[in-house]
Amino acid sequence: MTTTDHDEQAGPAGRNWAGNLAYGARRLVRPTSIDELRAVLAEGGPVRALGSRHSFNDLADTDGTLIATDGLPVEVTVLTEAGEPVAVRVSGGLRYGDLAPRLQELGLALSNLASLPHISVAGAVATGTHGSGDGIGSLASVVRAVELVTASGELVTIRRGDPDFGGAVVSLGALGVVVALELDVEPTYDVAQTVFDAPRWDAILDDLDAVTSLGTSVSIFTTWNNADVADQLWVKQRMPHAIADPDAQAPAGPVDVDGDLPVDEAVVDAVALAAAAAERLGATVADGPRHPIPGVVADACTEQGGVPGPWFERLPHFRLEFTPSAGRSSRPSTSCRAPTPWPRSPPCVRSRRRSPRCCRSTRCAPCAPTTSG
Ligand SMILES: Cc1cc2nc3c(=O)[nH]c(=O)nc-3n(C[C@H](O)[C@H](O)[C@H](O)COP(=O)(O)OP(=O)(O)OC[C@H]3O[C@@H](n4cnc5c(N)ncnc54)[C@H](O)[C@@H]3O)c2cc1C
Repeated sequence: MTTTDHDEQAGPAGRNWAGNLAYGARRLVRPTSIDELRAVLAEGGPVRALGSRHSFNDLADTDGTLIATDGLPVEVTVLTEAGEPVAVRVSGGLRYGDLAPRLQELGLALSNLASLPHISVAGAVATGTHGSGDGIGSLASVVRAVELVTASGELVTIRRGDPDFGGAVVSLGALGVVVALELDVEPTYDVAQTVFDAPRWDAILDDLDAVTSLGTSVSIFTTWNNADVADQLWVKQRMPHAIADPDAQAPAGPVDVDGDLPVDEAVVDAVALAAAAAERLGATVADGPRHPIPGVVADACTEQGGVPGPWFERLPHFRLEFTPSAGRSSRPSTSCRAPTPWPRSPPCVRSRRRSPRCCRSTRCAPCAPTTSG
């Protein structure tokens, strides 16, 4: 276990991810076992659990001891019923971005993710963190059990159906240190993400429900710089199943545009439907990758352009290996430049290749006359 006692700049516990908050905790400890955690708790309070420091406010702070949870043993155990995987038991300090690829390897998935994968499971669940989507729940909604160590050092497991379960899941960290959670899982699936530019506010507000139901997950980003249009509309559409790696299907030479390639109609339909709906909003398919903050390079963002990919590489807006450009280290003012153009033409969703390997279908969003001419 490591203990940090002093830091001239921000106190022993440092700052939150965004850098807007200096934790006031007297001490930061990082136990590496449940026994070490119990020993810290036995010293008395006040204490508070710390996840990945992504809360913008002082929710995770204390004037006593902050307990970092990322040093505790990592666990990912699949739970089965009648031989079928139904849930996964994970350590609380694990980040979604570290959990998701492991699930994918096992052919499993979660039903939703937040905008970034850098957050810890326990910290995100404790605060009711959510992704987007009319039909999918918050990250807490798939929790079937919470295991926590209370102030007295007792290891308590509270399961779905227990009287206090709801309050124990979205607990704001008030009940103890969550060391493990059980999460519902399902077979893996793919998601295609398409970004549209400049949807009109009047059309959005005319029927907001129609907009939020455009896809499995829908986000509207705006800087309010234009009173008439929002900056971007991001539509993530869940495919009915996991689609084979498009690169594995890609022939080396030119593609027969009449349709020799395997076509996933679900992809075509989903993206085309979203494009048609977005057109009613006055929006156009983005001609290159977008960052939610206009003008910021989109390298940190998950793949767009209607190209289907694994759930955990599309549901978050940001990729684990990059830091989203909103923290102190990479503010738009330092990394701001014009949006990166597509290295090639937008992808054709029917052939799932980029032009000129294009299906030229009028149902294919990037190929349709209204979007690509
Ligand atoms: C760039 C950015 C994007 C975001 N996107 C979204 C989004 O898309 N949707 C959304 O809903 N929110 C979003 N958030 C908010 C974020 O999901 C929450 O702040 C979440 O709590 C962060 O988790 P964390 O692990 O960093 O928790 P911390 O900030 O470290 O802690 C948050 C709370 O959880 C408690 N806690 C942490 N770990 C434990 C544990 N093991 N046991 C008990 N309590 C614990 C802490 O005591 C504290 O009360 C975003 C934040 C940032 C900075």
